[in-house]
Amino acid sequence: MNVDVAKNLHEILDTLPEGVKLIAVSKYHPNEYIQAAYAEGQRVFGESHEQELSKKQQALPEDIVWHFIGHLQTNKVKYIAPYISMIDAVDSFRLMKEINKQAAKNNRVVDILLELHIAEEATKYGFTLTECRDMLALGEWRKLRNIRICGLMMMASNVDDESQIRREFMTAANFFDEIKAEYFADNDAFCERSWGMSDDYKIAIECRSTMVRVGTSIFGERVY
Ligand SMILES: *Cc1c(COP(=O)(O)O)cnc(C)c1O
Repeated sequence: MNVDVAKNLHEILDTLPEGVKLIAVSKYHPNEYIQAAYAEGQRVFGESHEQELSKKQQALPEDIVWHFIGHLQTNKVKYIAPYISMIDAVDSFRLMKEINKQAAKNNRVVDILLELHIAEEATKYGFTLTECRDMLALGEWRKLRNIRICGLMMMASNVDDESQIRREFMTAANFFDEIKAEYFADNDAFCERSWGMSDDYKIAIECRSTMVRVGTSIFGERVY
């Protein structure tokens, strides 16, 4: 291992204000990297490919809290439903229904975040603000008893312009307030704002992130 995972991890943890959680994004990194972070007390890890995650979940300690942070195909939900703690990038009502169905089969309630598409890149997944408003207004989601909507997730545009990144995070933060007031005012579970990755998590925290997803700054560059 040519990366000092322990040192990198603590450097980041030391900068996080109280109330901001760290998801250590371990996709494409081997188990020994995860174990190095685990040995330092890190328990929350994020992965974005079902097969890779399932292999790691079987090999690694049972008390790891796994987040699925990537785009999830509906036909893959059944494989992670028995153990996943949170599915962070839920981008359609169809996916919500499938997670609900598979969670019910496992007698579980699975936590999810709704992924917003705010970035200007056409390739990013997620609900537009309008799509998200419309989905919530329809109310069908209230019947899905085996999922719990815990907040919002998004990725900013991959640009150098810090003011644009900040603007996108603030759009998400303001949208959180709108949705919270309209649908989740009496629901304490709806409290998470997941934005910020290695390059922009400090800006994200200034824009009220509660959950940053950091990979490269902990584990080094990914080898695809
Ligand atoms: C890979 C990934 C991250 C981590 O990105 P880094 O730049 O390595 O910190 C965060 N969020 C999502 C959704 C990802 O897919």
